[in-house]
Amino acid sequence: MAGAATPPPFLTELLIDGQLVAGAGSAEAILNPASGEVLTQVAEASGEQVQAAILAAQRAFASWSRTTPAQRSNLLLAIADAIAQRADSLACLEALNCGKPQHLARQDDLVASIDVFRFFAGAVRCQTGQLAGEYLPGYTSMVRRDPIGVVASIAPWNYPLMMAAWKIAPALAAGNTLVFKPSEHTPLSILALAPVLAELLPPGVLNILCGGGESVGGLLVGHPKVRMVSLTGDIVTGQKILQAAAKSLKRTHLELGGKAPVIVCNDADLAAVVEGVRSYGYYNAGQDCTAACRIYAQTGIHDRLVAELGDAVASLRFARKRDADNELGPLISPRQRDRVASFVERALGQPHIERVTGAAVHSGPGFYYQPTLLAGCKQSDEIVQREVFGPVVSVTRFDELSQAVDWANDSEYGLASSVWTQNLDKAMQVAARLQYGCTWINSHFMLVSEMPHGGLKRSGYGKDLSSDSLQDYSVVRHIMARHGEQLY
Ligand code: NAD
Repeated sequence: MAGAATPPPFLTELLIDGQLVAGAGSAEAILNPASGEVLTQVAEASGEQVQAAILAAQRAFASWSRTTPAQRSNLLLAIADAIAQRADSLACLEALNCGKPQHLARQDDLVASIDVFRFFAGAVRCQTGQLAGEYLPGYTSMVRRDPIGVVASIAPWNYPLMMAAWKIAPALAAGNTLVFKPSEHTPLSILALAPVLAELLPPGVLNILCGGGESVGGLLVGHPKVRMVSLTGDIVTGQKILQAAAKSLKRTHLELGGKAPVIVCNDADLAAVVEGVRSYGYYNAGQDCTAACRIYAQTGIHDRLVAELGDAVASLRFARKRDADNELGPLISPRQRDRVASFVERALGQPHIERVTGAAVHSGPGFYYQPTLLAGCKQSDEIVQREVFGPVVSVTRFDELSQAVDWANDSEYGLASSVWTQNLDKAMQVAARLQYGCTWINSHFMLVSEMPHGGLKRSGYGKDLSSDSLQDYSVVRHIMARHGEQLY
């Protein structure tokens, strides 16, 4: 694609016990979703390789769990530097493997991934907790936070490197060892880093296995030596993992889907709403669990919003030759594109739903779907209730604010939400009532490494980013010392 850097060679070897090895399982074709072309083949890990990786992580835990926060911090900083040195080529790989614009991968995914490693390098050195003291006469109590053991981390395809950073950095910082599995669709960026990770980290501390969810993922989740499973993925995958993890009572960390409500009050800054939803309803082609995809617009602003947002969405640029001209990419696969298309088809089969713009598969190569805005949607409609994970935004009209808040909360999901109004009192009251892991006021989508990211309800309960994530990847222990005779 014109305007983009030359891709580096594709590395396809797994990382097991400090060694780079070819997968011994069946090969998976890795596609460029922007063209449909096969980029390379990556062989998945065999059952023996999964076993070897878990046992290597278990062996490495004995010494890694005894390193100091400062030692682990220095290694995380070295990983951040290694990513920063390769940022252009990693962005190129990310763009090829996800189809996303390379300049956005460089300015967003890479910058965020580097920052996550740097944040956890700092956070692990300054954790706080309850004071040690004599809570029973003659005994001193203190609280420790210790690592859990071998963690299996399983990632999705929408932000491959950033999801890897969210999972690897806090788990290693907390003193755990890891077996990391990227999505079978998007292994290239983490595999490109495998040689440098092998050089920086002691053998077995971080193992990288490629492969399918049911095959490699299933073996990881079922293994008795894996003490914790961390998943970012679909609700159904989360349910399967919970069932499998129940057999050995593993700790789980689940970050599942989302269907973010966007409450737009009559007194909202219309231009800001239009700009916000144009950007963050469609960013990454809507393949984002926080996407601003479910608008509730108050009657006084509704018609202007639908008209102006329709024009703005129709102006989104994609599938252009020059990388810098694109604002979004394709869907990850033909399957995902067809899934999005069928959601829209079913929605438009309802007489009350109006197509404002989009609603068609883009003709030409790649798995593109037109950025789509649907108006006239009702709370009970599938398009309002279910996560599409594509460039599709629905608009529902409301009169009373309490109705909008009830509708926003009437969802299986609970990850992200936003409220748009120029009245701060109103914004704060709505924010307090929304049952979501995050509520933005007059904004949407903004994440920072210092603040927790995670859901409620069927969006899961694991917290990524922030010191809360360090807590998720560690266990609280009470140490109590009896003093014996009073000496003075
Ligand atoms: P997915 O659940 O299909 O796959 C996610 C990962 O789970 C992949 O690595 C896959 O191989 C693995 N997997 C699948 N079945 C498995 C099984 N039975 N056992 C073990 N592992 C298994 O999800 P996806 O299609 O890659 O990603 C899209 C979904 O992820 C969406 O629903 C989206 O909302 C969600 N997501 C959530 C967040 C968040 O922060 N909450 C972030 C990104 C994506």
